[in-house]
Amino acid sequence: MRLDRFLAESTDLTRSLAKRALIRGEVSVNGELEKKAARHLEEADRVVWLGESLSLVGVRYIMLHKPEGVECTARRGLYPRAVDLLDVPKAERLKPVGRLDVETTGLLLLTDDGQWSHRITSPRRRCAKGYMAQLARPLEGDAARQAVDAFAEGIVLEGDEAPTRPAELTILDAHRARLVIDEGRYHQVRRMFAAIGNHVEALHRESIGPLLLDDALAPGEWRELEPEEVALF
Ligand code: URA
Repeated sequence: MRLDRFLAESTDLTRSLAKRALIRGEVSVNGELEKKAARHLEEADRVVWLGESLSLVGVRYIMLHKPEGVECTARRGLYPRAVDLLDVPKAERLKPVGRLDVETTGLLLLTDDGQWSHRITSPRRRCAKGYMAQLARPLEGDAARQAVDAFAEGIVLEGDEAPTRPAELTILDAHRARLVIDEGRYHQVRRMFAAIGNHVEALHRESIGPLLLDDALAPGEWRELEPEEVALF
């Protein structure tokens, strides 16, 4: 691979900025200053730019503890984007795997592996997602039992025709419930609780399939997935 391409593939530099960095004498190959953009690199060559040893960016799999007030969109909007929280080269290449609302916290995966992402988000795969919901109104007694049954059977949400797929609701206390769904309709959890006359005050995603949010991650923190975590999907 040409040196200027390698720089562009392994840093946030564009190809033309990489060429300028070379001309400025910021790059060395195997300890020697190199200014030629067209220099062909061999596998074993070690490239250093401004003291930083570079390697090619491969496919990446990231677990983020999404905080409130962060968007899962690709375009810049009103709020900071999830990808802006990742201080990695070529962060723009990483795409959220599905979406969480701006106010929703918890487990968000990001990757540049489109096929892996598709395996998680494809409706046909029915990948389960687990949420913890904080409810505005108490849900207890008969109403709680009816909600568990209704969610298990499926309910028709406002604006939809087909009922939701069976979902597992576990009441933890009068204002907290865990819900596992295997679909990804727009605002689905909030709309399901709205359909039974409640309101979700706070929503937190705890799991995607068998993968749990790492409790060592504070809101806004992230880590790369371990190979065995990637292999879960
Ligand atoms: N359901 C919602 O209502 N919001 C989310 O962010 C995720 C699931």
